[in-house]
Amino acid sequence: MSDQYKSMWESLGLALESHDALLNVLGNFYQNIYLSQKNRPQGMGYFDFVMSEVHGLRIKELLDEKAQGRKIIGSYCVFVPEEIVLAANATLVGLCSGADFAMEEVERFLPRNTCALIKSSFGFKLGKVCPYLESADMIVGENTCDGKKKAYETLSGLVNNLYVMDLPQVKSTQGRELLKAEYHRFKSSVEQLTGKPITVESLKQGIQTVNNKRNAIYRFSQLRKANPTPISGLDALLANQVFFYDNPQRFTESVHKICDELETRISQKQGVFPENTPRILLSGCPMAVPNWKLPWIIETSGAVIVGEESCVGERGTRNLTDDSGNTVDELINAIVDRYFKVDCAIFTPNPDRLNHIQEMVDTYKANGVIQYSLQFCQPYQMEAIPFEKALKEKQIPTLRLETDYAMEDVGQLKTRVEAFIEQIK
Ligand code: SF4
Ligand code: SF4
Repeated sequence: MSDQYKSMWESLGLALESHDALLNVLGNFYQNIYLSQKNRPQGMGYFDFVMSEVHGLRIKELLDEKAQGRKIIGSYCVFVPEEIVLAANATLVGLCSGADFAMEEVERFLPRNTCALIKSSFGFKLGKVCPYLESADMIVGENTCDGKKKAYETLSGLVNNLYVMDLPQVKSTQGRELLKAEYHRFKSSVEQLTGKPITVESLKQGIQTVNNKRNAIYRFSQLRKANPTPISGLDALLANQVFFYDNPQRFTESVHKICDELETRISQKQGVFPENTPRILLSGCPMAVPNWKLPWIIETSGAVIVGEESCVGERGTRNLTDDSGNTVDELINAIVDRYFKVDCAIFTPNPDRLNHIQEMVDTYKANGVIQYSLQFCQPYQMEAIPFEKALKEKQIPTLRLETDYAMEDVGQLKTRVEAFIEQIK
């Protein structure tokens, strides 16, 4: 891939040597974690292809779109409404932040005790290795946790196109008003960027496109209820990660295609792991590409992951946006309603998230919950403690784990995960 796309990467200002090194590591990692899995559905071939071309063909597509006047918007959070972006004839891409890069340089800008996700977003910028970041006409940061909101102040000195979206921290009437005002402000800024005013028709179309994507991933998730499960948690996570990069229509079609295959597998009782393999719900911080460490540990320790209570998972994709409004204002209101239900740990109090975890345990017939937080992530670490107590009171086995993107703790994590799986067996 390197030679074929070299001039494209050069034109984006990537540091070619570092970028090659990153792709090499990513390729090996993918080979060892993904391609070594057994009994994978054929439909995963599409996602393997997307991953193999994630810095190649997909970037070329985005640059072709740009050449035709379309704008690209990069985002770090599921609170950035793709409906509005699409309605203004722009494309939204997730900025992954799932690997350590240029850490020494990062720590010149951020305290050492910053979560790996935030550090990674800086590392990809400082190391000049992310073609998505460099292709974006606008980068949206959001005032969610303290780490992110302060980091964006610094990031604004490193990029010239950062747009900061304020977000409420409380689900009150005032909180909803703030979100609504911010989505209106975002709409105007995106319209200004693209030069395309958002109309009722374009917004309805944007809502339908994103709803279709969510419906497809919902259908896919529901198939994981089966015992044996027709797909591994690693592969399901990958589909949830690709949700943020791929062309929405193509993604929707590809997910439905794999769902057809999974339905056949279920009817034939064909699973990735034997029937009655212990079933785990993974809950906590979002897992961005290529943060596959913990799912890989879990699924090589005798369990299968049946759901992700995460922004790269059901927290981010559940709930559709109502598209029945007749004015742009009504439709934006519906968008606000939909996003206001996202139960990120930055909200206080946040009872919906615990309810959702319990609901997912029932739906996916999970035998236990692994609560995952990145080190130094206060919102998710803080919630994990009362959640552990509440889950135990309901006789739901749970394990709390904190980690980062480094591989040094793999042995230690594996020991704890294996002991937990033994316990739930
Ligand atoms: S965990 Fe919170 S801050 Fe992070 S992507 Fe999800 S909603 Fe955004
Ligand atoms: S993982 Fe936690 S600390 Fe890091 S950006 Fe997300 S909410 Fe903030």
